[in-house]
Amino acid sequence: MRQLRKVLVANRGEIALRIMRTCKELGIRSVAVFSEADRQSAHVRYADEACCIGPAPSKDSYLAIERVLHAAETSGADAVHPGYGFLSENASFAERCAAAGLVFIGPPASAIAVMGDKTHARKLMQKAGVPVVPGTPLAVETVEEAMWTAESMGYPVIIKAAAGGGGKGMRLIESPEQLAQSISLSQSEARSSFGDSRVFIEKYVVRPRHIEVQVLLDSHGGAVHLFERECSVQRRHQKVIEEAPSCAVAPVLRDRITGAALRAARACGYEGAGTVEFLVDQDQEFYFMEMNTRLQVEHPVTEWITGLDLVAEQIRVADGERLPFTQSDLAMHGHSIECRIYAEDPASGFLPDAGMLIRHAPPTGIGVRVDASFDEPGEVSIYYDPMIAKVSTWGRTREEAIRRMARALKDYAIAGVKTTIPFCLRLMESEVFRRGDLSTHFVTDHPALSVPRPVPYGQARAAAIAAALGQRVRLPAGVQPSGQWQQRRRR
Ligand code: ADP
Repeated sequence: MRQLRKVLVANRGEIALRIMRTCKELGIRSVAVFSEADRQSAHVRYADEACCIGPAPSKDSYLAIERVLHAAETSGADAVHPGYGFLSENASFAERCAAAGLVFIGPPASAIAVMGDKTHARKLMQKAGVPVVPGTPLAVETVEEAMWTAESMGYPVIIKAAAGGGGKGMRLIESPEQLAQSISLSQSEARSSFGDSRVFIEKYVVRPRHIEVQVLLDSHGGAVHLFERECSVQRRHQKVIEEAPSCAVAPVLRDRITGAALRAARACGYEGAGTVEFLVDQDQEFYFMEMNTRLQVEHPVTEWITGLDLVAEQIRVADGERLPFTQSDLAMHGHSIECRIYAEDPASGFLPDAGMLIRHAPPTGIGVRVDASFDEPGEVSIYYDPMIAKVSTWGRTREEAIRRMARALKDYAIAGVKTTIPFCLRLMESEVFRRGDLSTHFVTDHPALSVPRPVPYGQARAAAIAAALGQRVRLPAGVQPSGQWQQRRRR
């Protein structure tokens, strides 16, 4: 049997560290790649070997296929783990790895390719009997075609880029006039963002929940699901808070939606860990949205409730092993919640806030996990995603996981940039979140949660000074030392 010995991690930040930790547990050496901006980064220090692959901009380093492959060759790695983002859903990168004799720790390139094109994926899903959101079967070319389709579905509709991702390239359309104005604009936006101008139209599902199913398939026909996650709390169509299981999914719906997810995965010849995303409407009808052919940011909540290490499972599958369990061996235990901590300011529409983290001391304790990209104060770079950390908690019940998360967020000592911590804390403490009354409109429906509580002037000033001096201070719940007292250097 093949045995992987050295894995190159083609990524940075918390996910690179997270993958390397599992490699270490499995006795596999890890190779980091890094850009010049990341020379001092934690993932570079943690790896067994590290290789600089170019300047700061992603296109010249983490997205530069030749450079990543060259690093793999010179380091003698036998496999590549792409993490999420960057090259993780790039079918030609998966192909190039295979051609270079490297094991790609992910699905076959053909599965990435078909799921990376939303119109092809929709077609394949319909064939496999997986419900999709009503919409155009293929890309729309003309305004007339778009008008006719939208008229037959009824407004509102959503325009999406066929090659879109990361919440980009979507536009909500509420009237024929708006549609007429938006089609060519969306096409040119899609061309500049994704190098592919094709757009299509979907019915806009009103107040849906975002429910996704984690699947795991080996190359011998073994296939299981690892239950669902709910990711309805989003801003700009991107997730901020995730949990598992979903409090809106009863056993009957769970059976149906996980069954559909496995049909989706089998239909594209999937191997490894993947996520099938659905929208669930108010009548509990669900619709396929897309399949993410990689490890998800929010995979820790699934790890909490199943006790599995998803990266270890990915590596075993890529190494040609069979899944060591069947569906009946798997069960959910308790509840887990994850908050993504971004260097962003919720009060100003979640604008990124790069700069120096002058203090970074994450929470610890029972049932708390922090996947962070900083092991000491450092810089939130303007070049990359502004996510600082993911805090996930486990509890025997949802209520316990929420209470634990609120405690963890209060314990998180961080200063230098504005973060989403106070926002997440207000959310954990809000009645509406505790009730589980969620939809993808949650953040806009509850604007008060994005606004900081007023802090007495003296308290904020004292807190900022103490934090700058690296001291622990007792702050009112949800308050961060920031604003005019914040010390930071911008590039
Ligand atoms: P991306 O690939 O860019 O992440 P998705 O298709 O996964 O885009 O959609 C991201 C989010 O956008 C969803 O979680 C949901 O909030 C919203 N969304 C997408 N399609 C629809 C739709 N047809 N109706 C309502 N909301 C939608």
